[in-house]
Amino acid sequence: MDLFENLSDNQIEAVKTIDEDLEIIACAGAGKTGVVTRRVINILKSNPDILPENIVAFTFTEKAAEELKSRVYKYGEAVLENTKGFANMYIGTIHGFCLKMLQEYIVQFQKFTVLDEIKTKLYIEKNYNFCGMPDLGLKIYTETNLFLSVISTLNENWFERDKWDEKTRAAVDKYKDTFYRKNYFDYSLIMQEMLNQLENNKDFADIILSKIKYLTVDEYQDTNPIQERLIHFIKQGGCNLCIVGDDDQTIYQFRGSDPENILTFRERYGINKYIVLGTDYRSSEAIVDIGKRVIVNNEKRLPKVMESGKLIKYEEGDTVYREFDECDEEYEFIAKRIKALHDSGVKYSEMAVLLRKRKHGPDIAKMFDEYEIPYIIEGVNELFSTAECQAAKGIFDYLAGTIGMMELFQLWKSIDYELDEKEIAEAIATLNVIDVKSKKFYGEFVLQKVYHDFLRRISIVDESNSSEIILYNLGKFSQVINDFETIYYTTIPANKLSSFCNFLKYTADGYYPEGHIANTYIRPDAVNIMTVHQSKGLEFTAVFIPQMNHNNFPSAKMGGKSIWHVIEKDWIPNADRFAGGVEEERKLFYVAITRAKKFLFLTRSPGNAREKKVSEFMVEAKESPYMLGFDEKMVYTGNHIPPMSEDAAPLNLNFSILQDYFDCAYRFKLSMFYGFVQPIVPALGYGKTMHEIVMNIHRRFLSGETLSSEDIEQIVNDSFYLPYANPKLQDNMLEGAKKSIAGYVTKNQDDFANITMAEADIELDMGDGIKVNGRIDLVKRREISGEEKTYIVDFKTASREVTECINAEQLKIYALGYQKLTGETADYLEIYNLDNSESERQRVTEGLLENVSRDIRDAASNIRNNDLPRKCSKGKCQKCYLNYLCLSKKEKQEYEV
Ligand code: SF4
Repeated sequence: MDLFENLSDNQIEAVKTIDEDLEIIACAGAGKTGVVTRRVINILKSNPDILPENIVAFTFTEKAAEELKSRVYKYGEAVLENTKGFANMYIGTIHGFCLKMLQEYIVQFQKFTVLDEIKTKLYIEKNYNFCGMPDLGLKIYTETNLFLSVISTLNENWFERDKWDEKTRAAVDKYKDTFYRKNYFDYSLIMQEMLNQLENNKDFADIILSKIKYLTVDEYQDTNPIQERLIHFIKQGGCNLCIVGDDDQTIYQFRGSDPENILTFRERYGINKYIVLGTDYRSSEAIVDIGKRVIVNNEKRLPKVMESGKLIKYEEGDTVYREFDECDEEYEFIAKRIKALHDSGVKYSEMAVLLRKRKHGPDIAKMFDEYEIPYIIEGVNELFSTAECQAAKGIFDYLAGTIGMMELFQLWKSIDYELDEKEIAEAIATLNVIDVKSKKFYGEFVLQKVYHDFLRRISIVDESNSSEIILYNLGKFSQVINDFETIYYTTIPANKLSSFCNFLKYTADGYYPEGHIANTYIRPDAVNIMTVHQSKGLEFTAVFIPQMNHNNFPSAKMGGKSIWHVIEKDWIPNADRFAGGVEEERKLFYVAITRAKKFLFLTRSPGNAREKKVSEFMVEAKESPYMLGFDEKMVYTGNHIPPMSEDAAPLNLNFSILQDYFDCAYRFKLSMFYGFVQPIVPALGYGKTMHEIVMNIHRRFLSGETLSSEDIEQIVNDSFYLPYANPKLQDNMLEGAKKSIAGYVTKNQDDFANITMAEADIELDMGDGIKVNGRIDLVKRREISGEEKTYIVDFKTASREVTECINAEQLKIYALGYQKLTGETADYLEIYNLDNSESERQRVTEGLLENVSRDIRDAASNIRNNDLPRKCSKGKCQKCYLNYLCLSKKEKQEYEV
């Protein structure tokens, strides 16, 4: 395959520029992902000394990373004829990279987990008195979000901390101490720690800097100060730097990104090579013209010529505006246009309604309901508005004594499912024997277990569309409990229950969407109703932008308490960027317009008292000769509709997901689609920590160290960590771990010289958006009858309480991953039990790898088609932790469950 096929001169120049630093300004639809992909392959093709692991590419989102990775694999196969070592190439977010490096090279951080937004809130509120929040005069619950904004702003500028006052410095330190005490990171702490280590830990910095030879940063315009400092540090190590961005699309200033980074990049880094990819191949000439006429009104821009590649044919009436007197008329117009476009061949999933503010979403969704238009919307269909979720919540309100038995009974009766009244009564009776106040130890009262035990008593199984929706919501509630118990598991029972009820009442309500919306495995053919911010990086055949009113788009400035009521503006460089302004709003509007490939509808009807006037952006857009007032006689023939994107959702699988699937596809559905989570057990994490211990031992042997038994014991002490265990259990299990590890080392020490890999990442790109990720524990070579053989070893633990284990099916996937990573085929697969030092081996036979590839593709296809049948057998179903959601009453009797 020719690497430069179908590229423009500027694109070719960008792909070829690999020996000097480069700035690429890529306008919307300019094909930047294709250019970055081919440039990566060109680097590998042109320079045999550069390995995939020497290339790092930062993307703004995981989704963008997946797309870039897929293309890199595809071009790797086509141009280099293999993707050997590609799993060692980092393509992903900056945070992801920092976390990976910290955990890879600094033992202390292997114990750390990253808290997402909801868990961060939970953790902060749980530790209100210690986390620095009262020191800044902020109130619990009502000002938690403000506190988190303040902390992340400060942490993203932490190298300016000398400017802060004493009180603020102390609060930030307390926040960090609170997180580190429990081995937690939030996103800003990961970055801060990475820079801290790079700047103060020379060994670590040497490893990172010597590894990276080529650094690419996509969406550079949205980098914040700490990310910029990291990029600058890596560049000082001597790598080649390529940044890709578009100053016209800087839309995250309100959360800290600094447009000055891209505006001053060339001068600051002394860059000579500057390439503009100004041709839009995504959109018609009309869309490009409208976008251009809007964005040129911004004063602070880099120079560039923007034009259409004219790959999408423009037809009169593709881009229209219309004004209405009433909101209902406006939304009805949108619904009718969507129907008309759908009738002419545009898929629903190829259309989007882009909102400046979420508040308009529910009314549009209501209109779509009337017109029977399928849609996906976030922030409208809330989990806690569903009857089943209210019923699930009722279990805990009943235990806390805030509702009575009859009320709980009625809540369960009111869900849209023929539940047996006797069973509901029996389920409630099981709650009556739980005396929370008398329970002293946290392990005696596990919310998830209470929930599963209750559901076990009522027969509710997947038998129709409506029961599927109910199971989605009940599964999502199981995740809500899991989020809570991740933080509160070790709290004493009475406090745990009251905190959970408060969490459901004040924080969780309004935060979680309905269960089926969260299913990422299936992409329905539905119209997307989303904010413009959410649409970044996406494209649609038709885009509707409603409510084009002044003070809506552009948005009026928000009132209320801001971070500047807590910290001083002159502590943060370029602080005015947070305020936003009309130029920032115009960039957002430009992003919205350029999501459209062919059809663009701008509509308005006067909004509230502040939103009566037409938006100035609508006026600017109407200056384009392509923008016409809507005319009922416009007919969409469907003759020139752009090619539709594939419906298949990207599938990111890992070994344990596949293991679940291969074991019983329906259990996979219950856990991965519906989201049912197993109760946390105190020993959770034992398998993970044992893996880390053996990895650390192997790595030190690999680096040439000779380890004494004291060294081994020290490694176990340093690495062992069970986040949910009480001190006594922790000590007991640590002693057991020491014995197991000592036994393993004694038995296998002579073999350590034969280790070739310890904890190697593998990544299988199966094409068609299917990826499998995982890690191989160990690869070693052994001489058998004069022949050297390769063994892939996976460690398991035998602890009865711990479910983290592997099976032979999983090992076969490792074998395939090993082949992709190294280009070699392993001879044997071995499972080694660390707790009893027993091992089992299996030959890698001819055809095994082809069979595994086929099985994975079949699995992906079945998952996407929701074809996930039950695989019943008495032995398996008896042990299945979700059998009560699966088996009929008759089967339960038959299987004795
Ligand atoms: S009970 Fe049996 S058939 Fe049902 S999900 Fe579990 S393992 Fe599969």
